[in-house]
Amino acid sequence: MPTLLILGGTTEARALAAACADLVPTVTSLAGRTSEPLAVAGQVRVGGFGGVDGLTRYLREQRIGAVVDATHPFAATMSAHAVAAARAAAVPLVVLRRPGWTERPGDRWHRVPSMAAAAGLLPGLGRRVFLTTGRQSIAAFAALDDCWFLSRSVEPPSPPMPRHLDVLLDRGPFGPAGERALLAGHRIDVLVTKDSGGATAKLDAARELGIPVLMVDRPPAGFAPIVAGVGDALRWLLRTGFTAVRQAPPIRSTTVS
Ligand code: NAP
Repeated sequence: MPTLLILGGTTEARALAAACADLVPTVTSLAGRTSEPLAVAGQVRVGGFGGVDGLTRYLREQRIGAVVDATHPFAATMSAHAVAAARAAAVPLVVLRRPGWTERPGDRWHRVPSMAAAAGLLPGLGRRVFLTTGRQSIAAFAALDDCWFLSRSVEPPSPPMPRHLDVLLDRGPFGPAGERALLAGHRIDVLVTKDSGGATAKLDAARELGIPVLMVDRPPAGFAPIVAGVGDALRWLLRTGFTAVRQAPPIRSTTVS
């Protein structure tokens, strides 16, 4: 039976692997950025493929029958490579991507196209910044000596980093009460986030406390069909010939973080 390749690193990827691993040969691929990744059902491989050529070779050699790109919405390089390699190896591909966030009454959002644009607007919006953009984005804020940052990430960041920085090592999901207490306790006056989608606790807390949000827009999507949830990904797999996934247990809506 051909193998299903899930490009992972997200809650949705783990949920899809859990639904499929007992029914079809399933490999989840992780970049290897996290030293202690959460458990994933089925087989796991770790590390880059070696660009488009490497991934194309992998798809052929491992007899991959379908690829679900369930990477984070900001993992644009991996997603672009997946489109090119799937086309080259003639393997069906779908993108499993949670919807982005939408502004609600009371929100004070400023949408920006990039981290650099967020850094440019920041000093005018606030000086005590909660940075939830992930450790790889911290460098964009390194020159802002007039701001104090609280950064939250799973792994510690590496230089260049802002001069005034406290690092909170933590992994979601995060609840509304905890997010409110964190923002109030650190007297945060601006929140910076990627438009990752999923759990809204930090955005709800910012709205309740009247804190402005710098919302970094997603990079453009590639040319591949997109589904928004694990149930839709399973239906796509059924249509692609992975008929065994018909027996997958009903999918409850996944709590994404
Ligand atoms: P990226 O910039 O799009 O990818 C850079 C390179 O890392 C890719 O060219 C590929 O190397 C390798 N890579 C990325 N994802 C991979 C995967 N799932 N399996 C194998 N190799 C992978 O990726 P990124 O933004 O650094 O994200 C890395 C991982 O972290 C992804 O799996 C993503 O889902 C997860 N993640 C990212 C974010 C975020 O904000 N970017 C947030 C949460 C989780 P080769 O070219 O050698 O194949």
